[in-house]
Amino acid sequence: SGKFFVGGNWKCNGTKESITKLVSDLNAATLESDVDVVVAPPFIYIDQVKSSLTDRIEVSAQNTWIGKGGAFTGEISAEQLVDIGCQWVILGHSERRHVIGEDDQFIGKKAAYALSQNLKVMACIGELLEEREAGKTFDVCFKQMKAFADWKNVVIAYEPVWAIGTGKVASPEQAQEVHAAVRDWLKTNVSADVASTVRIIYGGSVNAANCAELAKKEDIDGFLVGGASLKGPDFATICNSVT
Ligand code: 13P
Repeated sequence: SGKFFVGGNWKCNGTKESITKLVSDLNAATLESDVDVVVAPPFIYIDQVKSSLTDRIEVSAQNTWIGKGGAFTGEISAEQLVDIGCQWVILGHSERRHVIGEDDQFIGKKAAYALSQNLKVMACIGELLEEREAGKTFDVCFKQMKAFADWKNVVIAYEPVWAIGTGKVASPEQAQEVHAAVRDWLKTNVSADVASTVRIIYGGSVNAANCAELAKKEDIDGFLVGGASLKGPDFATICNSVT
């Protein structure tokens, strides 16, 4: 449902030099017309990317402050992101939840504020391996979903933590099962309209070789790509897996 969506999360990777090369590869890539493409560089390179990358590809931050800027050392505000032309922000990523310790409430506040400033949000959810093994995958994802209140400018990224950066991609059936459950949860708890229009993308070890099978699944509306998004041609292949 909705237009196919592929995000590239560059995480804490890149140098001026490597990013110049990646941008030039992305500018040279041929992308299918029926896919939204967004890349998320580290904060300090957003301006460079924004001014050198084709407008065909939108730009995202990987985090933002919870509210208006001011005396918050080391933070970047939504207003500042908008000021430099950034259109999106990734929130709730597992690395921020589990490595940095952000909780649902904190993530929910960030999302509400970012949306109020007209940033669009990639809202990430996903279970740990032990949660999956304990049969808690849906409960964990639904609890994380509850922190996000407004779905209009939101893309949901289901990223099982055990699949991120591990090479252990979820099977198309495993991803489809959770995407369908999340859509069903939205239907019951938000509205049938949101459930049918919101995009639910999959993330976790997506690459140029496994994207096509995943993209065929009914409720997989695109991808959030980490490692493979650092290689322009591979990322373009993933973008073009739209079915
Ligand atoms: P990998 O594609 O490197 O597994 O990372 C996925 C991810 O966390 C995207 O946000």
